[in-house]
Amino acid sequence: MSKFWSPFVKELVPYVPGEQPKLAKLVKLNTNENPYGPSPEVVAAIQAELNDTLRLYPDPNADRLKQTIAEYHGVKTSQVFVGNGSDEVLAHAFHALFQHGKPLLFPDVTYSFYPVYCGLYGIEFEALPLDEQFQIRVEDYARRNGGIIFPNPNAPTGCLLPLEAIERLLQASPDSVVLVDEAYVDFGGETAISLVNRYPNLLVAQTLSKSRSLAGLRVGFAVGHEDLIEALERVKNSFNSYPLDRLALAGAVASFEDQAYFEQTCNAVIHSREKLVAELKTLGFDVLPSAANFIFARHPQRDGAELAAALREEGVIVRHFKQQRINQFLRISIGTEEQNQALLDALRLKL
Ligand SMILES: *Cc1c(COP(=O)(O)O)cnc(C)c1O
Repeated sequence: MSKFWSPFVKELVPYVPGEQPKLAKLVKLNTNENPYGPSPEVVAAIQAELNDTLRLYPDPNADRLKQTIAEYHGVKTSQVFVGNGSDEVLAHAFHALFQHGKPLLFPDVTYSFYPVYCGLYGIEFEALPLDEQFQIRVEDYARRNGGIIFPNPNAPTGCLLPLEAIERLLQASPDSVVLVDEAYVDFGGETAISLVNRYPNLLVAQTLSKSRSLAGLRVGFAVGHEDLIEALERVKNSFNSYPLDRLALAGAVASFEDQAYFEQTCNAVIHSREKLVAELKTLGFDVLPSAANFIFARHPQRDGAELAAALREEGVIVRHFKQQRINQFLRISIGTEEQNQALLDALRLKL
């Protein structure tokens, strides 16, 4: 702390990301990165961009990328917003759409960045409990609110809410924005983008970090009614005109152009997930049904924090959360077949 700080800085509770270890040999199953590299087309497109044009600013409006995403999802370019990772997209959405002096609603077990953004932008929130099966109870959200946000599938549970339930939620709160954070939707969910033209209060956020193997490139986007997108653009253009650099723009466009690779890697992750779930169940784990590239599991005889520490001794890192309701669980990202096998071997030693 220092006298030079603006007063609010002292009150911030920043987000703590999962560890990015410096040791290369660890089996890293803690931050839901894709175990497969990005499409070779993406790497080639970025390499082609490594030239003298780097002296020039990138396109501030990212028109080509917006067009690519708009075509991919069957919407208008004016319905697409892009940002430096979906975290930045979410931050702008909190700032632009959730400051109404009424509480923002989200689940009690969810992405821990949401309360952080509330702290940053002075937004009041209510965390509504998931049911015993860790599912969102849609009826609970039909109350006074200044907005609603949740990931679908939810994080860190992996549980999916069907589109029909999202529609009920949109109808029950027509006067506030419902933001569906679809960071993991490509691993078994159905996108709510199909609903944006019927619900002007729906905003859908996605990222290239997980299903497109580009966590290191920092690209995310949102799709919704053009009035919502305009609000995001106004905030973005009051903050940073060039959030996406030339390399990110080139790589992101190329990623959408290689559909075959995208499908192949998503399917490989889904296949490995189903295999791993079955194996963990034979080891005695309770595993929540997952539609994501991670699973949320607990062992009835072993403390969650202890088990995470024991796995670390074996060179396998998974994510453990101290939050009361979920502190017996481990969130395990789906790795390659070899990585998943290393996890199972370590568990057999440590259980
Ligand atoms: C990973 C993740 C994000 C952020 O993704 P980036 O695009 O890498 O910033 C957003 N929401 C949820 C729920 C996530 O798990």
